[in-house]
Amino acid sequence: MAARSILRRPALALCGVLMLTSGALLGCTPSPRPAEQTQAPGTSAAGTPGDAATQGKPRVLTTFTILADMARQVAGDHLQVESITRPGAEIHGYEPTPSDLRRAEGAQLVLVNGFGLERWADRFLSGLPDVPRVVLTDGIEPLPIAGDAYAGKPNPHAWMSPWLAEVYVENMRKAFTQLAPAHAADFKRNAEAYRAELRALDRDLRRDLATLPPQHRLLATCEGAFSYLARDYGLTEAYLWPVNAESQVTPQRMARLIATVRERQVPAVFCESTVSAEAQKQVAAESGSRFAGVFFVDSLSPEGGPASSLLELQRHNVSTLINGLKGR
Ligand SMILES: [Zn+2]
Repeated sequence: MAARSILRRPALALCGVLMLTSGALLGCTPSPRPAEQTQAPGTSAAGTPGDAATQGKPRVLTTFTILADMARQVAGDHLQVESITRPGAEIHGYEPTPSDLRRAEGAQLVLVNGFGLERWADRFLSGLPDVPRVVLTDGIEPLPIAGDAYAGKPNPHAWMSPWLAEVYVENMRKAFTQLAPAHAADFKRNAEAYRAELRALDRDLRRDLATLPPQHRLLATCEGAFSYLARDYGLTEAYLWPVNAESQVTPQRMARLIATVRERQVPAVFCESTVSAEAQKQVAAESGSRFAGVFFVDSLSPEGGPASSLLELQRHNVSTLINGLKGR
């Protein structure tokens, strides 16, 4: 299992490097773009005199809190980064409020995940036609969603792979460099430092997950949000619904997960912070396992919580998983 992960990584990493450095797609499948056109930053009429100059730093909007955390690591003090959705928000079926729209005014760049995640944002951002939009999953080959209504569509949760997160970081660095070229050297330095942290995270997750008995390497949760992480670290993923955009609990879905948990004799099941865990607690009761905690995937915890950055989120999730599966 570990050997397979190790073999995969250089091939995919090389794929990413080729795309990042040359824009070429040698041997790589390009990611499908969402319906909207991606504009290069700095090419719009948004930067009219008086905007950034009088209000201070250029404003960058992201669609959710995890992207805002990543963007702040790359931007440092040079940009004002804000998330449209707040910590704890359910982001798949989010409904923007009038105050969200007010905050979006004056933004000079919008960062979106893509892979079909932010359908609500397409409508919302159509009110800001001149603001350039960058899709952070550009250059990533998506994994398909496995089942039900969304079968075959890209699984949007690519940020959950530490090394795919490096592609997000590079896309941010390029976008910020176009937005504020005077700070290009700082963006580069920040991006390199953050990439080093993501690599350290990857090493830690690999080391920690290797301590799990192979038969227990099953990540049973509510949303199928761990496909990239599971692929990278040799875990099997099982879930109640494929994506929160369609989070209906049906008797069939519950029965399927109960059967998987029983068959693998997995001691623990989990759910995500942004959805109800009630159905999963029932799965635990009926499968003879226990409900062992909450993962953060689509949204950071509020400040001071266990997942106030992407790096904390990953460490929290993996320690929750390991403690649950080891019966601690
Ligand atoms: Zn999700």
